Amino acid sequence: MEFDTIAAISTPMGEGAIAIVRLSGDQAVEIADRIFSLPSGKKLSSKKSHTIHYGHLKEVETGEVVEEVMVSLMRGPKTFTREDVVEINCHGGLVSVNRVLQLVLRNGARMAEPGEFTKRAFLNGRIDLSQAEAVMDLIRAKTDRAMNVALNQMDGKLSRLINQLRQALIEVLAQVEVNIDYPEYDDVEEMTIPLMLEKATWVKSEVEKLLQTSSQGKILREGLSTVILGRPNVGKSSLLNSLVQENKAIVTDVAGTTRDIIEEYVNVRGVPLRLVDTAGIRETEDIVERIGVERSRQVLKEADLILLVVNYHEELTEEDRRLFDTIQNMDYIVVVNKTDLTQKIDIDEVKQLAGERRVVTTSLLQEEGVAELEEAIAALFFEGSVEANDLTYVSNARHIALLHQALDRIQDAITAAEAGVPVDMIQIDVTRAWEILGEIVGDTVQDSLINQLFSQFCLGK
Ligand code: GDP
Ligand code: ZN
Repeated sequence: MEFDTIAAISTPMGEGAIAIVRLSGDQAVEIADRIFSLPSGKKLSSKKSHTIHYGHLKEVETGEVVEEVMVSLMRGPKTFTREDVVEINCHGGLVSVNRVLQLVLRNGARMAEPGEFTKRAFLNGRIDLSQAEAVMDLIRAKTDRAMNVALNQMDGKLSRLINQLRQALIEVLAQVEVNIDYPEYDDVEEMTIPLMLEKATWVKSEVEKLLQTSSQGKILREGLSTVILGRPNVGKSSLLNSLVQENKAIVTDVAGTTRDIIEEYVNVRGVPLRLVDTAGIRETEDIVERIGVERSRQVLKEADLILLVVNYHEELTEEDRRLFDTIQNMDYIVVVNKTDLTQKIDIDEVKQLAGERRVVTTSLLQEEGVAELEEAIAALFFEGSVEANDLTYVSNARHIALLHQALDRIQDAITAAEAGVPVDMIQIDVTRAWEILGEIVGDTVQDSLINQLFSQFCLGK
């Protein structure tokens, strides 16, 4: 395939000491030659592929030096896009990288659309669709573990499994064909139906397994939504602060200044948490009224985990008990805080209210008990779940939707086969399931869908 040469800034805006302007396309090297020269006066095109060179960028007309840069030359097809790629490493400031970008645009490159580099990698057959999406997830991955999931997918683990499933469906279809081709033999049906059912049932159970991992996948990508709940002054903000301090806060692109709900991303022993401190919601008002606020109710409803903080130094109040009641069907951990002060709380009552849930005692003031709390959080998340690394997580909303659709079709086919429905009806469902699974790896995707997908990517990837 042939495309024009595209360019974009491929490092995060305004971050880091170095920024990269990436060019990809047939003319990438030619454009670089126009504006870049080595100290020796030599041109980039005289150099070997996959090498990096120091030199200057100059205005073509005036010869004025624009920037001191390192330029790497990577000739296709051994590149991410399979095209010739030139990367210009320049100073990280916004002004200087923009100047470099403008220079290459003035000299024959076109500004890349969001995701266009990855789109080219896909269209040039370098990666399949699920891998392309993994690249997108990788860009957005917020923690190491989420990063691993994305990396696994990029490796093609999900693609391989999906292709196996599609192969099995082809075998089901083959049995259907036999059945249709030889209707005159009565025993063909007796032979083919059980074989079909066996294969289809296997595919069904594999798809179900994948879907089971999907909620975890979502959590890994977006963080376990964790609400810190409790009466005023029990130590909610202190808890948020110590979790953030002990664990590297994950930087988000949302500036957290004026929101009334405080939100922080932290990585607790590999579990990404999106911490929400409800203390920001009208701290001064009565807690019942606060919980009554539509907003906080919504936050609670969407929570994956609740950290309910109570005060060791006070007896349990009606408000505390009401909070236990409000969250009775949810996953929560009780944090009994202020153990440095004298005990006034009835711990037995707390444990009774908490039932099966964990109760952890802390003195946030003296930084005690936080490690135990972190243990409890991690244990809750990994309890009964398979080792994260062995799993192919499905963490992509589009994949999940497609898997659900495929599952429905397979289920229909199985039900029909068991009910003795004519095989050509079953054929329709199985074929559809095969097509749907194909959309995950990009086999049967419409053009418009591809465009839509890639436009979600960050610019420059
Ligand atoms: P929130 O209203 O629930 O967010 O509570 P804060 O985190 O703002 O804490 C309320 C007060 O309790 C502050 O003065 C904290 O310094 C204090 N505090 C928090 N944790 C502890 C603790 O473990 N021991 C003691 N003695 N005081 C604490
Ligand atoms: Zn507070």
